[in-house]
Amino acid sequence: MSSSALIVSLVLAAAPPPLEAGAAASNITPPLGTLVVGGFAPYPAQHVHDELYARSLVLDDGKTKIALVVCDLLGLHRSVSVEARRLIQEATGIPPQNVLISATHTHSAGTTLGKNRYANKQTLDDYQHFVARRIADGVRRAVNLLRPAEIAFATVDVPEHVYNRRWLMREGSVPPNPFGEVDKVKTNPPVRSPDLIEAAGPTDPAVSILALREPGGRPIAVYSVYSLHYVGGSGPAHISADYFGIFCGALKRLQPDGDGDPPFVAMLANGTSGDINNIDRLNPRPGGAPYQRMREVAEDLAAKVHAAMAEMSWQGSAPLAARFSEPQIAWREVGPDLLAWAADVEAQAPRVPGGNIPVGAKWATTREFVTPLSYAGRVQSLAETAEPAFVPLQALRIGDVCIGTSPCETFAEIGLEFKRRSPLPHSFMVSLAHGYIGYLPTPRHIELGGYETWPGTNYLEPQASEKMLDALIQMAAEIEPHPCEKK
Ligand SMILES: [Zn+2]
Repeated sequence: MSSSALIVSLVLAAAPPPLEAGAAASNITPPLGTLVVGGFAPYPAQHVHDELYARSLVLDDGKTKIALVVCDLLGLHRSVSVEARRLIQEATGIPPQNVLISATHTHSAGTTLGKNRYANKQTLDDYQHFVARRIADGVRRAVNLLRPAEIAFATVDVPEHVYNRRWLMREGSVPPNPFGEVDKVKTNPPVRSPDLIEAAGPTDPAVSILALREPGGRPIAVYSVYSLHYVGGSGPAHISADYFGIFCGALKRLQPDGDGDPPFVAMLANGTSGDINNIDRLNPRPGGAPYQRMREVAEDLAAKVHAAMAEMSWQGSAPLAARFSEPQIAWREVGPDLLAWAADVEAQAPRVPGGNIPVGAKWATTREFVTPLSYAGRVQSLAETAEPAFVPLQALRIGDVCIGTSPCETFAEIGLEFKRRSPLPHSFMVSLAHGYIGYLPTPRHIELGGYETWPGTNYLEPQASEKMLDALIQMAAEIEPHPCEKK
């Protein structure tokens, strides 16, 4: 071998493998008449304002493939993720631990949560089967569309749309919770109330942006993550992907040739927004027409993400790695006092044939009864769970970016702590991934009380967030770049 040939082959051996990326969006809109689940009581859908999608991005570093999927759903049961990942492996060979499937948390969609939310395993219903199939089809199509790609990462702070919705209140101003106790914190207190002291936790204003494009050319996809619960304000009995869908449309319109072939795919996953919403308690906006506020937030966010993309530095490679674990964590304990309370509430409930619906002027005109009745059912179901919760957790490495996942409505400070503790330079969490296991407050917040911490809203033991974070950090350390890879 000549010396120049030797140099060429050494350079080739040392060069990082080229990256490929492909993306596709699968329609998952359910038929009209499907029950919309995000509201206080489910109601049949009468109109589709905008279609629901499972949006997929597949990355391939030459050795490893990973898939990121975001679904326009309130949440998905663990069994839906298990089935979708089984179908994906069958069709593409991508192992289940390398596939991240999460829900946006739109409150105007059909449900894939199934009947018993506290069951680790469910037999899938028709819509759950359909969604699993469509997710798998989307990933398969993204694999078909794999092509050489460049990758870039950026974050941009957009603090103006996120507010912590949990407030410390002046003593004596918090009404009793459904269990008859008084919390220190009230969730969504009245706006401009003189009893507001301060928000009980932080917000995370950062949008994390992972962008893919053809080398020097057309954009392929953007996977972005923002820690906002949802915006809401859809039309009556409408199906809608909320601001998540409007954002994706707006970001696509901002791309050159966004509707080309294959089309650009925008994605917006939910970060850690369990305690975050879009309502400024101190300076509330006047109510607007349906979709108005969603559009304002989505279009502003899309413009800011697009502007951040202009400053990105692109790379032709990104080593990929994945870890998945499923620790068993105890459910929130339901003690004898709580069970006695639940039995008492149910015993007092007037019944109508076929259900636990309160009747009569005294009950039907007040939510003070409907809410305890709903919690009576929830705590009884929680108490009946035989095995501990299977809690799917995942850490993905994409170059020097690390994504950690949680199957819960995760509080903002948990995501902030993941960012602080992760050994990789750019880290963020995605919530509502691979399952739906209620709200995830920290132990401090469980002490403070409030809606998200009530047994039946919060499903897991008080220390769950610490156990989950430790497990995620451990997995992140396992996939951390080798010291010689670090720049
Ligand atoms: Zn929620």
